[in-house]
Amino acid sequence: MKYNFGAGPGKLAKEVLEEASKAITNFNNTGLSILEISHRSQYFMDVVDEAESLVRDLLEVPETHDIIFLQGGASTQFAMVPMNLLPPDGFAAYLDTGVWANKAIQEAKRFGEVVVVGSSINANYNFLPRDFKVSSNVAYFHYTSNNTIYGTAFSFTPEVTVPLVCDMSSDIFSRRIDVSKYNLIYAGAQKNAGPAGLTIVIIKKGILGHVKRVIPFIFDYRLHIENKSMYNTPAVYAIYVAMLNFRWLTRKGGVAAIELENNAKAALLYREIDDNPLFVGTARTEDRSRMNVTFTMVTAGLEQEFLNFSRDRYIIGIEGHRSTGGFRVSLYNAVTLQDVEVLVSAMREFSTQKE
Ligand code: PMP
Repeated sequence: MKYNFGAGPGKLAKEVLEEASKAITNFNNTGLSILEISHRSQYFMDVVDEAESLVRDLLEVPETHDIIFLQGGASTQFAMVPMNLLPPDGFAAYLDTGVWANKAIQEAKRFGEVVVVGSSINANYNFLPRDFKVSSNVAYFHYTSNNTIYGTAFSFTPEVTVPLVCDMSSDIFSRRIDVSKYNLIYAGAQKNAGPAGLTIVIIKKGILGHVKRVIPFIFDYRLHIENKSMYNTPAVYAIYVAMLNFRWLTRKGGVAAIELENNAKAALLYREIDDNPLFVGTARTEDRSRMNVTFTMVTAGLEQEFLNFSRDRYIIGIEGHRSTGGFRVSLYNAVTLQDVEVLVSAMREFSTQKE
C-alpha cells in the first residue's frame, strides 16, 4: 500500500478500483468483459445514462446545460472551445495563470483574436491576477479554476459580464460550483473524476452554431450532444470507471461532503508548511489551491533526502512539476485525511532530525 499524492492521473478509491477490475472479466454478471461489449449495447447505454445523471446530480447541473463525454483530454478542448465559440473576426479574453492556461491561449489564437487580460507569468504564476478588466465585446472569457502546477486556485467565480468558459480539469467535483454561471466547463477526468481518456464537457444550450467556420464534424459539440456522446466509439472503460467513481462520491455525501473533507486535508497540510521551519509555501496565501499544495525547502539541497525519506514511508508522487521544482502534494478526492496525517508526520520527523 502506497500513499499516493500524484498530480494525475491521481488516486482513485480502492472500492472503485476493485469494482472496476471485476468488470474486466465479468461485467454485471453478463459473462462478458466491459472491454468486449458494444458501446451501442443496452448494457453500455445504461452506463452512459447513469454517468450523465450522476454528474447532473453531483454538480447540480441545470436542465439549461448539456453534459457530454469526449476523448482527447482537456488539450483537445483548448482547440474545440475557440473552434465552436470564437468567430473568425471576433475576440476572446483569456487569463494567463500558468502553462495550461497558456496552451489554451496559443490554441485559441489559431481561430481568432485573443486578449490576455491578466498574467502572473512574471511571478512564476504564484498568484492569480485579480484586477483584470474584460471588455463587453469578447465572445467569452476563459480561465483555469485550479492551476495544477503552481498550486493556485479560484475559490470563487470571477465576476464578469461576458460568457464564462472554464478549464476545471484539476478541481471539478472537489467543491461546489454554480454551473448556471458558465457557458462551458470542461475537464480531463484523470484527477477527481476517473481515469485518463475521458473528458467531461458541460455546455449551455443555445450557444452553439453561431460561429461561421468549417468545424470538422468530430470537433463539433452539436454532433456529440445530438448523439448523446455516441457520435463515435466513446472511451467505454474510462466512462465506466468514472461512473463507479461518481457512485462512490454520491455514497460519500456528494460534492458538499467531499468539499469539507478537502478543506480539512488542505488546512492540515498548509498548517504544517506554515509552522514547520524547514518548509515554505510557494503560492500566495489567498490564492492557495486545496487540490495541489506546492512548497519548497528553506534549506537548499535537502529535497532529494526528503523525497527518499518519504519514499521509505511509502509516500509517493510529491515531487514538484519539472518546470517548478520543489514539492507538490495533490489532495484529490480519494486522498484521505489519514494519508495527509502520514505525510505531515513525515515532514515533522524529518525536520526534527535536521534541527
Ligand atoms: N488543464 C489543466 C488544469 C491540467 O492540469 C491539465 C493536465 N494536467 C490539462 C489541462 C491538460 O490535460 P490533458 O492532459 O487531459 O490534455
